Amino acid sequence: MDVALAITWLRAAAEAVTADADELTRLDSAIGDGDHGVNMRRGFTAVTAVLDATEFTGVGDVFVRAGTALISKVGGAAGPLYGSAFRAFGKTLPAGPEVGLADLVTALHAGLDAVTRLGGAAPGDKTLVDAYRPALTAFEEAVAGGAALAEAAAGAARAAGDGARATISMTARKGRASYLGDRSAGHQDPGATSTWLIFQALADVTA
Ligand code: ADP
Ligand code: MG
Ligand code: MG
Repeated sequence: MDVALAITWLRAAAEAVTADADELTRLDSAIGDGDHGVNMRRGFTAVTAVLDATEFTGVGDVFVRAGTALISKVGGAAGPLYGSAFRAFGKTLPAGPEVGLADLVTALHAGLDAVTRLGGAAPGDKTLVDAYRPALTAFEEAVAGGAALAEAAAGAARAAGDGARATISMTARKGRASYLGDRSAGHQDPGATSTWLIFQALADVTA
């Protein structure tokens, strides 16, 4: 992945969360406070502005700056969680204009670790971890099996989608949805859904 592809991915992710903002907000209305689409659209609009205004020399910088924009522009849970994930992802990548598949695997782990450190969610708690964790596993296994980026990204996107759909039957144990207890079951988690969109965006731009 080079700087141009990193920027293309984030722009595609911004387009996807903007296009699906109403759906994300609808999901959050069912089990949260109905702002996830608004939050993600606002955050990724800020990311796009940073991409427009900055000359990047390193791949990692693209994600670090994007993460900073998310943290500064989005209140609530998702801004700090996604922002910290992107910052950790970017900081873990080696300096320079191009990174390899193994670097991306390591950085994806760092991103998930950041989410876990900040939010304390485990798989099955009905959060974005339930899309991120299987996507990372699929990506890592594809890379270990010799897949190119496009194939690994497609596998990750499929796994994220399966993971997001699997949150429907889960009872939330973290975040606002946990206040509902058992009544949170029967609805897809909004954050898992936006995580799926972000992995799908990578699959789309590498296909
Ligand atoms: P808020 O809940 O503050 O309004 P958002 O609606 O933007 O924030 O984001 C809600 C999403 O954030 C949830 O659907 C869930 O996926 C994710 N989330 C909330 N708390 C946590 C946590 N502790 N760990 C991981 N993800 C979380
Ligand atoms: Mg919300
Ligand atoms: Mg909120």
